Amino acid sequence: LLRAEGLTKSFGRTHALDGAGITIREGEVVAVMGPSGSGKSTLLHCLAGILPPDRGTVHYRDRELTSMNDGERSELRRTEFGFVFQFGQLVPELTCLENVALPLRLSGMKRKEAERAAKDWMARLEVDAVAEQRPGETSGGQGQRVAVARALVTGPKVIFADEPTGALDSLNGERVMHLLTTAARETGAAVVLVTHEPRVAAYSDREVVVRDGRSRDVEFAR
Ligand code: ATP
Ligand code: MG
Repeated sequence: LLRAEGLTKSFGRTHALDGAGITIREGEVVAVMGPSGSGKSTLLHCLAGILPPDRGTVHYRDRELTSMNDGERSELRRTEFGFVFQFGQLVPELTCLENVALPLRLSGMKRKEAERAAKDWMARLEVDAVAEQRPGETSGGQGQRVAVARALVTGPKVIFADEPTGALDSLNGERVMHLLTTAARETGAAVVLVTHEPRVAAYSDREVVVRDGRSRDVEFAR
């Protein structure tokens, strides 16, 4: 579904990626592990078309992300990908429901229809109770589950999650991971999951280890 080959990326004299590659198959949950500073987030950003690599290619199905223009890339991100980051990155001025409905509204869906779909997803992530609250008024775990609902609402084929439980205690982290992976499996979305925590990686189908900007597949580790 998604394949990166020979990615290099430098920031000044820091070689964040040095020939990294990764393959994500349809519907699978892949954990990207490795020490701090090894290039995990940079790899995820290149894979998702957020950051252009210096060298190397990224293919989504038969389309090459790395040769698209910015407009084509952002259209692909909007329609095919969903994102969850460590700190929800919800819009603080909007209610949680408006946050989840936002990607649909941006695609031109009518307010009522968008909010109905958003409500369904919030119920599945067990955060319908905070629909009318603003992100600042929720707990960390609720906020992350709202962020997961927002990532899923457009029916993406790939969810990119960079330390989605990094700011949560282990109980809330497990709850986010359980709901995220259950929803992804139901909808057939693949998940690229960057994490330090073995307990979080345990929700994946296999692991890819990144070290010094190079990646190594641990094929079908479980
Ligand atoms: P962590 O587990 O701490 O999140 P990581 O594996 O995600 O680490 P990256 O964020 O990909 O690591 O960073 C890899 C290297 O590139 C690091 O040395 C980092 O300092 C550097 N780097 C990343 N982004 C930038 C940037 N925008 N500008 C300068 N250096 C950067
Ligand atoms: Mg990182």
